[in-house]
Amino acid sequence: MPRSRPAARRSATRSSDRAILLRRTPFGETSLVVHVLTPGHGRVELMAKGAHRPRSRFFGVLDWFDTLELAWVRRGEADLGTLREGELRHRRRGLTRSLRSYRAAQTVVELLDLVTRAGFSDRDQFTLAESALDALDRAQGPPSALLAGFELKLLDQLGLAPALASCATCGAPAAALDPTAPEPRAPFSTSVGGRLCPIHANEAHASGVRVGTLPVAVLDSASLALGATLNKLDELNWSKERSIRVLDFTGRFLDHHLETRPKSHARFLAAPDRNRRTATRPYTP
Ligand SMILES: [Zn+2]
Repeated sequence: MPRSRPAARRSATRSSDRAILLRRTPFGETSLVVHVLTPGHGRVELMAKGAHRPRSRFFGVLDWFDTLELAWVRRGEADLGTLREGELRHRRRGLTRSLRSYRAAQTVVELLDLVTRAGFSDRDQFTLAESALDALDRAQGPPSALLAGFELKLLDQLGLAPALASCATCGAPAAALDPTAPEPRAPFSTSVGGRLCPIHANEAHASGVRVGTLPVAVLDSASLALGATLNKLDELNWSKERSIRVLDFTGRFLDHHLETRPKSHARFLAAPDRNRRTATRPYTP
């Protein structure tokens, strides 16, 4: 008959998974508390004891934007697990070569930090995180289109993707208000959920809901980006201005739903709305 072990030992579970760092906080003189996103365990919070000691096996491993392979132990229902093993599985060096790509990758990580909660496992979120970081790592040009594509796909995973091609309320085609204008615009309401047909735009407006307009070209580009895989976004060949304006749109839409904005995106979104009716100048970083 096996000997019974103490309750605390019996309830310790060992897990391992791939992981991407979401948050890293110093703890004491030499340790770190890290929050990571994993494919099989969702968001996990771990104590990495002694991670700052040069001879620690975790030293230099818990770095931004890499895919790691971690093993940890958690006792009972405790939120904080203890990191036991950690190694680098895939380093994305391209992200440290360009400040623009680095900032975009920071936004990816910050947004995932904002939308994930412990206790929920979502393999698709991890897959999206890896493909966004991979695509940014390989990107040669400015990362705006890629980041906009990531933001749209993240919104989609959260069930918050805006209606981009048809009316958010009835699904009917949502035509431009002024098809002959130099830049045709369509009714759009963030709180209703996207583009609107004239009937539902009027109905929303009459009931006191804020309804504005957005350039049809920006909405159509966002629609294409939502349907494309991230590493194919370069092939859409958007101009710099188009990329910036789609990113402005997705950033503000996320901002509204999350009620907060990633620090790395704050400067970009602090500028006046680049899709407002009078916008003529593109964003220049
Ligand atoms: Zn409608």
